[in-house]
Amino acid sequence: EAKLRLSGVAKSYAGRRRGTVQAIGGIDLDVRPGEFVSLVGPSGCGKSTLLYIIGGFIGADGGSVLCDGREVSGPGPDRGIVFQEFALFPWKTVLGNVTWALARRGVSRKDRPEQARRLLSLVGLDEAGRLYPSELSGGMKQRVAIARTLAMDSEVLLMDEPFGALDAQTRALLQEELLRIWDETGKTVLFVTHSVEEALYLSDRIVVLSSRPSRVRDVITPGFPRP
Ligand code: ADP
Ligand code: ADP
Repeated sequence: EAKLRLSGVAKSYAGRRRGTVQAIGGIDLDVRPGEFVSLVGPSGCGKSTLLYIIGGFIGADGGSVLCDGREVSGPGPDRGIVFQEFALFPWKTVLGNVTWALARRGVSRKDRPEQARRLLSLVGLDEAGRLYPSELSGGMKQRVAIARTLAMDSEVLLMDEPFGALDAQTRALLQEELLRIWDETGKTVLFVTHSVEEALYLSDRIVVLSSRPSRVRDVITPGFPRP
């Protein structure tokens, strides 16, 4: 049974000058439970669009997306998303950002501080709970964003170039951390990147999309031993 099943997913945008632009031309893809799948393809081929469709933030014009066999019709707690640009609440502390997601999930007020601290520890931020996003480096912000998404306890993690804005060293560190978290939690990960090297390192399977209107062009199974 697939965790995610995409059948004929298609999407066009109304362009300002060129009329309708077909971004996604019809994508079929099954992702197994616990699998780590990367999406790569030329810039503008619709990788982010596809991820937002799966996240339920935008609708497709055709085809269907099933998560655990249920049709996706909007955002839901079963699918957590991590954006490239962190998207933290600047007016909340690190602890506040994570606690917000716990509250949304319905964790009782009494249990939130303990769980928030455990999540921050999981991403290596034990000391940063009282800081505000503006006081953090890019790498730290992305860690908070990951902790906040983990707080939603979704079985599916959708990640849109989460390490794209980071320097090489921070990116390498967070890649290791993501693999460890993925290994410990058994989550299903769909990871968008423009780096084939990153995809080779992280993934069970790499789905290569063609340029617009994108379709699945190739599927690569790296089969490298992970650290
Ligand atoms: P990728 O993530 O692969 O770089 P995107 O999903 O961001 O690609 O974009 C796919 C195509 O759709 C691009 O040509 C982009 O310009 C276009 N596009 C994306 N978002 C919009 C939008 N809101 N309105 C119009 N066109 C858009
Ligand atoms: P670390 O201390 O974790 O190594 P840095 O402060 O060196 O993090 O920043 C890592 C990378 O993140 C840098 O390349 C920087 O360009 C990027 N970065 C930092 N702050 C932001 C931000 N607010 N938005 C986007 N990128 C950022």
